[in-house]
Amino acid sequence: MNKNSIYGLTFNQLATWLLEHGHKKHRASQVWDYLYRKRVTDFSMMTEVNKECKTLLEENFAIQTLSQHVKQEASDGTVKFLFKLQDGNLIETVLMRHKYGLSVCVTTQVGCNIGCSFCASGLLTKTRDLSSGEIVEQIMNVQHHLDNAKQEEKVSHIVVMGIGEPFDNFENMVDFLQIIIDPKGLSIGSRHITVSTSGIVNKIYEFADTNLPVNLAISLHAPNNELRTKIMKINRAFPVEQLMDAIKYYIEKTNRRITIEYILLKDVNDHIEEAKELAALFEDKKKKVYINLIPYNPVDEHSQYQRSAQESVLAFYDTLKKNGINCKIRQEHGTDIDAACGQLRSKQIKQDKGKTVNQ
Ligand code: SF4
Repeated sequence: MNKNSIYGLTFNQLATWLLEHGHKKHRASQVWDYLYRKRVTDFSMMTEVNKECKTLLEENFAIQTLSQHVKQEASDGTVKFLFKLQDGNLIETVLMRHKYGLSVCVTTQVGCNIGCSFCASGLLTKTRDLSSGEIVEQIMNVQHHLDNAKQEEKVSHIVVMGIGEPFDNFENMVDFLQIIIDPKGLSIGSRHITVSTSGIVNKIYEFADTNLPVNLAISLHAPNNELRTKIMKINRAFPVEQLMDAIKYYIEKTNRRITIEYILLKDVNDHIEEAKELAALFEDKKKKVYINLIPYNPVDEHSQYQRSAQESVLAFYDTLKKNGINCKIRQEHGTDIDAACGQLRSKQIKQDKGKTVNQ
């Protein structure tokens, strides 16, 4: 029988569980120290935890529920991992190197139901949500990869932008955030964490109300309903006006800046008119908005979309700047491996299917 990942418990949940099972609360500190500081991969390595407690933990939880299926390393140091879950499903996790530190992009669902028309991940519909433990474990596996390289590097930034819509797995995602920011554990600075949503409006309000001091990014990708509905079908449920109201609420409630993600698709949403329209949309929020322009990574399955010409990208950027909008062109990572989100996973699934058919 599959066991739950021990990484899915917050510190208080573990302490309470241990207490309920006849163990002192302080054991939780010891166990967390072994998990997050000493980073053991087996309960038997928790030498200072008494045998009875170790046996109990072993009977009820697992430290490793993910196994590495494929690993691709790019020349810029980006590493893409394809992990196999206990039920055989595959998920993607990416390690990226920046000047400011090491960031990990985590997946929150097996597949995705949002169906953005440019996305390789959305080609495979959602099978299930990931547990909070499975999301934390992605970071731990990447950290173990770094530990094994013995360069004393530590994951410092997290982006919740991998496969899946985090707000469609809201409770597990919030538990995950609480676990990774806990100073007794991984202690990732909350300002170093960004959660990205396609724009599930009711959940943006809910997220603002959690008061979790992490960053929020919204995938907008078009400045009006007509265009956005063509690119992202979620716009039918949550049109731009509703999204803008939720953004306003989030900014007022948290007093934090929000990031707007904008993928540039050649001749679709990369004209000067759209840049002007986008700037006008945020005219009254200039100080609270940061726009990330993302050059598109083409995927075979979406041949209708091409990468914008460099001149168009720069003209779009200049137009936003001229209109007083903070923005940048996102640096690309891992261009010599399967760089687009979900590309490695969908390729591998196709390959595995091919093998099965040919056997
Ligand atoms: S871009 Fe994100 S939300 Fe949209 S289909 Fe892909 S994984 Fe889902």
